[in-house]
Amino acid sequence: MKIKIADLEFEPLINEDLIIERTKAIGQQLNADYLQSIPVFVGVLNGSFLFIADLIKQINIPCEIAFTKLASYYGGTTSKLKIRDDIDLMVDIKGRDVLIIEDIVDTGNTLHYLIDKLKQREPASIKVCSLLLKPEALQSPIEELKYVGFEIKNEFVVGYGLDYQEMGRNLRDIYKKVE
Ligand code: 5GP
Repeated sequence: MKIKIADLEFEPLINEDLIIERTKAIGQQLNADYLQSIPVFVGVLNGSFLFIADLIKQINIPCEIAFTKLASYYGGTTSKLKIRDDIDLMVDIKGRDVLIIEDIVDTGNTLHYLIDKLKQREPASIKVCSLLLKPEALQSPIEELKYVGFEIKNEFVVGYGLDYQEMGRNLRDIYKKVE
């Protein structure tokens, strides 16, 4: 069923059941991959808040959770280079295994910026888990991107935490913009 948010129309792309199923599989993989360490999961707010919550519930090894907030969109539907950096991590990641949890990787600029910033704090390792990836939009490869929920086309999506003009974050499924 199509929905309207502000001036745009959206149609269903990925339903809640599929998201939960994929999130469980990634969680199991993380439990195995981080068995030997106590990782710090760094959730990137706001868009990934539901994914962070659902993914963390699948984790059964000892871990810490921290948050940061970045934004590169400013209410539109195309990625802008300018990045606003709002809050610090509040956790010392020196010597720690860090896993960044993102909602979506589009151009990859936000992630490159965040990875560079976190590397300055000398963690033992940095990897990235993103619910969504737009391979066609990616401007340069991100070797730290080890876990991806779904690859999607180069289209604007909302729901399951992702917004359009700050709305639509509450939708349980992911929708794409009707062209
Ligand atoms: P990048 O820097 O990779 O171009 O953009 C990453 C950020 O842009 C994401 O964390 C997200 O906040 C936002 N973004 C990218 N694509 C979309 C999209 O299709 N929908 C929404 N709502 N946000 C997006």
